[in-house]
Formats: sequence, C-alpha cells, structure tokens
Amino acid sequence: MKTDILGVGIDDLTLAEAVAAGTALSESEGFHYAVTPNPEFILAAKKDEAFRRILNAADLALADGVGVVYAAKILGRPLKGRVPGIDFAQGLLSRMAHTGASLFLLGAKPGVAEQAAENLRKAHPGLLICGTHDGYFQEDAPVVEEIKAAKADVLFTCLGAPKQEHWMVQYGPETGVKLAVGLGGSLDVFAG
Ligand code: UDP
Repeated sequence: MKTDILGVGIDDLTLAEAVAAGTALSESEGFHYAVTPNPEFILAAKKDEAFRRILNAADLALADGVGVVYAAKILGRPLKGRVPGIDFAQGLLSRMAHTGASLFLLGAKPGVAEQAAENLRKAHPGLLICGTHDGYFQEDAPVVEEIKAAKADVLFTCLGAPKQEHWMVQYGPETGVKLAVGLGGSLDVFAG
C-alpha cells in the first residue's frame, strides 16, 4: 500500500528496504520501473495528469527529499524517512557488484555517462556496466536497440523529470531491462 501525498503514492520504506525491493525487482521477470518523487514532482503531477499516472503506476516510488517527508507528516501519514535517489542508486550499485546484474547508464551531456561509468567501476569492483549513452539523442529507436543489445538488466534513466519517466514507460519494456530507475542529475554527480 502506497502512502498518498497530494495525489502521488509513495512507498513507505527505509533506504535499506528500498534497495532490497529494487534489487528484487531487478531479478524478477518482466519490466519494472522506479521513480524518485521530490516536491517539484508532486507539484508538477497536480497539473499534469499523464505524469501523475506514470508516477502512480511505478513499481517503486521513493520519497526523494525531506519536503515529501514533511508533507507526509503534516498530512498525518508519516513516512519512515527520505530515500534520496542518489543513495538508492548507490545501494543498488553495491548489490549489483555482487549479484553480477548488468547496468546501462542513459542520460546527461555527451561524455558524462562514460566518466560516471569509469568512476563507478572503480568505486564498485565487480560492477558490470554494459553500456552508456548521453541524454541528448534525437531518435529513440537506436538507443532502445543499443540497450537491448547490451543485455542490460538495470537502466539508470537520467534525462530529468518528467522526460525520464515518460521515456521509461514508453520504451523501457522494449529495452529488455528488468528495472529502470529515473535518477535525474545523478550521472553528473557520479561523474563529478
Ligand atoms: N538531461 C538529458 N537530456 C535532456 C534533458 C536533460 O540527459 O533532454 C539531463 C541533464 O543533462 C542532467 C539531467 O538530465 O544530467 C537532469 O538533471 P536535473 O538535476 O535538472 O534533474 P532533476 O534531478 O532535478 O530531475
């Protein structure tokens, strides 16, 4: 059962629980996706029904920001705490380095995903990054094919909101990944 925060359902999980749930999804048959709503997402979703539907249909929706946690408290539906997208990503990376799941990094300006991959491989020995692509492509089909050919299990989708959420829902199933996660500016952080 998700906790309703102004029309957007949020999973009431600690970071450790969220990482365990994300890892389980990445090992389950079929396509799944995770979103990391912050207050800006929730405001945008109030006016944008398509975005709201996508957020509410996610397999995992994490409270990415203290604003969501405060809103939950004020509404009388307190959450266990915030689960920043970047921390969730780090937790998944640690698990993937052990499980051998393969990761594709999609998004950010040209060169950023490659740099992020290099840094993440160093930080997480054993992590299998099977491909990268920048987030400023014109055609979607070749990108979908590239992710599919790389046999990625997990896709970090870092195109900014709401673009990345629309992209995950529209193209995610075709990529063959088991889990896509919308992670905004995370690749810039990992490349930093
Ligand atoms: N981005 C992209 N393609 C686009 C627009 C944005 O890859 O068409 C990238 C941008 O380079 C940045 C990220 O998406 O790396 C968005 O970061 P931002 O911090 O603005 O997003 P948020 O985390 O707030 O959703």
